[in-house]
Amino acid sequence: MERVRVRYAPSPTGFLHIGNARTALFDYLIAKHYGGDFVLRIEDTDVERNVEGGEASQTYFLNWLGIEADESPDKPNPKYAPYRQMERLDIYREYTEKLLESGHAYKCYCTSEELEEDYNRQKEAGYASTRYNQKCLHLDAATKAAYEAEGRQHSIRLHVPEDQTYTFDDMVRGEITFESKDIGDWVIVKSNGIPTYNFAVVIDDHLMEISHVFRGEEHISNTPKQMMIFEMFNWEIPRYGHMTLIVNESGKKLSKRDNSVMQFISQYKDQGYLPEAMFNFMALLGWSPKGEKELFTKEELIAEFDESRLSKAPSMFDVTKLTWMNHQYLKEKSDAEWLEFVRPYAAASHDLASKDEAWVEKLLLLYKDQTQYGSEIGSLIDSFFNEPVITEAEEEVLAWETTKTVAASFLKNLPEAWSVEALKEAFNATKKETELKGKPLFMGLRVSATHQSHGPDLMSALYLTGYDVVKKRLETYVNA
Ligand code: GLU
Repeated sequence: MERVRVRYAPSPTGFLHIGNARTALFDYLIAKHYGGDFVLRIEDTDVERNVEGGEASQTYFLNWLGIEADESPDKPNPKYAPYRQMERLDIYREYTEKLLESGHAYKCYCTSEELEEDYNRQKEAGYASTRYNQKCLHLDAATKAAYEAEGRQHSIRLHVPEDQTYTFDDMVRGEITFESKDIGDWVIVKSNGIPTYNFAVVIDDHLMEISHVFRGEEHISNTPKQMMIFEMFNWEIPRYGHMTLIVNESGKKLSKRDNSVMQFISQYKDQGYLPEAMFNFMALLGWSPKGEKELFTKEELIAEFDESRLSKAPSMFDVTKLTWMNHQYLKEKSDAEWLEFVRPYAAASHDLASKDEAWVEKLLLLYKDQTQYGSEIGSLIDSFFNEPVITEAEEEVLAWETTKTVAASFLKNLPEAWSVEALKEAFNATKKETELKGKPLFMGLRVSATHQSHGPDLMSALYLTGYDVVKKRLETYVNA
């Protein structure tokens, strides 16, 4: 097999979206599975849509996810550079000239008003789709000269071959066929001299020796347009693959305007999702491994990737599953790694600096197994910084006769030499004295001393709450 080279070719029109990130991830997996190159090319020819910082942000979040490019604008291979399309305009010009000379392309002087008028006529006449009427295909020299003298701008159109069939073996969907009669003569270079996507992409894929073009399904209908250019130049056509849609939990296509689910990688990073969990999760969006295993390292995914297991059905973006996965990865962290990871999230919502460092570490470690994503720590530790609001369910527990008994006994046994061990002894003494067990004992003490019905290990929670606060809460309750 020739060397596998797969490119991810984003337009720098915004932040890295989950859909694009998944495309990049599969481009990367294919390249790495076959020991090839993963190339990042920036498709910035739609100048008005480019956003400031778009490219830098794409690169940053790809790297964060562990999808590192072998070649990119920042890491060019001189054989293929440059990697930004707007820096390749001379190259496109050269190939445009060739197509003009061979008669595969022609200049079109039609104004946008003329085109619109004609398309409207076609619509009124009942055509299902509109297409260019080839008015400029056979312009004589005099008319051309007149248009030029008038100062009319021109675009360049491809003369689509007649009665051609374009068939490709899609890596996801198998054989797909298009007929050239369904495609009108399309613009390859706009009147501002900038090539259109479908044209530039072919020149680049050829010159960069791309072997696999793997992208979203919205590009299926672009493929025959791209194939015809490959054929006109007699170039080898790459292997194509188009991933299925990502849908939300109600089966609707994820749209950037849908605020019900976070869709940008930056948002997940901010919330405290781990790159390795995101990588693992996205690799299962549209692909499934053999067997039941769900947790995979990047290296395992590279080894296991198998294009025959790409799914033809839309893939559901299941945030609950992502959160579960993230939780599994967090639990695997060593104590030191956990503290380093979670501290900024805790510090973002609570004043850690004012507390004793050993206390902070104990507190953060107490929630290590429970925290599903970094920023969740904020609400979990809140009761150690702000007096919790007692809910109705907790009021109910406080109303139990047994809760009073437990609280009074525990208050009496409260150790002044404050430690988890001493608290355990006090608890055992209370258990003996009150002869209570189960919910009345545990829940009664938890709610009366922590003002919460849920939480981590009770003795550790009491220890971190501190002697003064526990004592005051119990006193206030018992004496009420
Ligand atoms: N610039 C195109 C996009 O962002 C790339 C499509 C392709 O991979 O060919 O959708």
